[in-house]
Amino acid sequence: MTEPVRLRPRRPCPICNKASQQKYHPFCSARCAQVDLNRWLGGNYAIPAQDDEPGEDDSGSA
Ligand SMILES: [Zn+2]
Repeated sequence: MTEPVRLRPRRPCPICNKASQQKYHPFCSARCAQVDLNRWLGGNYAIPAQDDEPGEDDSGSA
């Protein structure tokens, strides 16, 4: 039997593994993009994690 493999056109966010947004590709949000940028720039300081906004869809469950 062949398992139904879902081919996702977008790769998950390399920072938090959430679904990436095209707007912030390849990241899921501007914050993750900033985190990655800071890593490249030095990464000596970390951006405080913020709670996800409750109105945001994180899973594509229909
Ligand atoms: Zn992310």
